[in-house]
Amino acid sequence: MLLPRCLVVVAGLCAAAAPAGAQTSTADLLLVNGRVYTLAWDDPSPDGAPAANAPRSAGGFHPDAEAVAIRGDRIVFVGTDRDARAWRGPKTRVVDLGGATVLPGLVDSHTHIAGLGERESQVDLVGVATEAEAVERVAAFAKSVPKGQWVLGRGWDEGAWANHYPTKKLLGERVPDHPVLLSGLHTFAVWANPLALERAGISRATAAPEGGEIVKDAAGEPTGVLLNRATSLLTDAVPPPTEEQYEAYVLAGLARMAHDGYVAVHEAGADRRLMKAFASLDARGRLPVRVYAMLSLRDADLCREWLRRGPDRANGRMLTTRSVKAFYDGALGSRGARLLEDYSDRPGQRGVSGTQYGFDQSLMAEMMKGGFQAAIHAIGDAGNRETLDFIESVEKAQPETRALRHRIEHAQVLHPDDVPRFARLGVIASMEPPHCVEDKAWAEARLGPERVKGAYAWRTLRRAGARLAFNSDLTGSDHDIFYGLHAAITRRDKKLEPAGGWHPEERMTPEEAVRGYTAWNAYAAGWEKDSGVIAPGRWADLTVMDLDPLVVGATDPGRLLRGSIRATIVAGKVAYTAVP
Ligand SMILES: [Zn+2]
Repeated sequence: MLLPRCLVVVAGLCAAAAPAGAQTSTADLLLVNGRVYTLAWDDPSPDGAPAANAPRSAGGFHPDAEAVAIRGDRIVFVGTDRDARAWRGPKTRVVDLGGATVLPGLVDSHTHIAGLGERESQVDLVGVATEAEAVERVAAFAKSVPKGQWVLGRGWDEGAWANHYPTKKLLGERVPDHPVLLSGLHTFAVWANPLALERAGISRATAAPEGGEIVKDAAGEPTGVLLNRATSLLTDAVPPPTEEQYEAYVLAGLARMAHDGYVAVHEAGADRRLMKAFASLDARGRLPVRVYAMLSLRDADLCREWLRRGPDRANGRMLTTRSVKAFYDGALGSRGARLLEDYSDRPGQRGVSGTQYGFDQSLMAEMMKGGFQAAIHAIGDAGNRETLDFIESVEKAQPETRALRHRIEHAQVLHPDDVPRFARLGVIASMEPPHCVEDKAWAEARLGPERVKGAYAWRTLRRAGARLAFNSDLTGSDHDIFYGLHAAITRRDKKLEPAGGWHPEERMTPEEAVRGYTAWNAYAAGWEKDSGVIAPGRWADLTVMDLDPLVVGATDPGRLLRGSIRATIVAGKVAYTAVP
């Protein structure tokens, strides 16, 4: 009897302390004056038509909020600037967005983050005009590297510099205490300092392997440049990264993603070493963005360990592990993808798949039955069909595994008969808009005019009820979100070619493109109740950009390529901001 009375009293006190409908706490972070798209309206139709409750007028999309309030790691308010004032307290950090666009945090749902971090940990020499300038960049970089440790760089243009190759001399004078190896832009040449040559055991007595050259001066002394197959004499001398260095790569890769607007990545194939790095960064609270880790099926011991332990069931941690990545077939460019019929430009060849390609079917089935999502790389139409057959067989044997939202990574070439199976089996097509515009030059040659219609077939898949998830497959493709959105919306490359888009009937609308990198990726990770839309109670994961992709994507999509990220907020913390 006492309990209800207390509740009434407490409720009464609340009402007295604050006006009806208002909250009693304040925000830690308050974003105002923004163009906020919550995405808290229904998905567009399979044809891309916006839902009836989408924020639109005759002129197209308009933002559905101005302000977002964050407390701790959650969103507590979304609405107008006027109503947001109530969340302002003495300790609230208020950020005026100056009309920038706010979206639910971007997610790249297929990454290889250590490779990105390794690249980030090297001296970037792309676009450097002179030897002296390159050397100064290396010297500046080397200051933060312990003496004796290798300094790696890449990107000097061995083609443009072919008539006046740099030498080891200036590089050795300015950077004497670190072995330095600088790879050319096209990887046909490397340039080294004397210490690197010494570590690699390269002297005037060293003979170049066939197909390679150790450039030597008139006196027979190596100048510091090695060409073609001789480059491996140096690259093989670089020791593999220590555990510490590797973790630094992973951190650098994730930090780069935060810098580029992403709040999370789905890592496509983590072995023991990578899982250890993720776990170590997580334990120290150092993950700058969320990580949804797919275990690498190739690391069978690691998978079996996780099978005993079971998948992470709860969300909310920065690191979630409940998916397994495997390869079913090869790639289309190298004609390794498994096709139902011969390659159009190589009769007799159909690629390789399944056990021939190292796919451990029984272990994957065990993982799925153990509660793990399968994420299987399949490129060719036969590769996709066989992968769907495999998933179907597991779902038949154990129907509850369908709820795990298995995915096919790339789903690049599909036979028309297999397209409806994605929806039927609940399989997500996890695809890369950049691949479409990068492969278009030769994809048609590999497949011929008929089969190519089933390639990168986003619209066809949506019409058949399939769910999509968009990503970059970095480092293979540029993960720049504006490039990704532009590719999805226009099917044009960075040079805006072809003008009308390559097989434009498969284009996505700007809304679909944005959802592909936000809400749909949230679904693919099982995070749709915690993220993917901007709403009270959701994770405070937001991306702020200087242009409005829903408006620009519809009116002048080429301008998307000039967009930039203003800020990235992950779990309520500002992980990146363009304004210091
Ligand atoms: Zn990949």
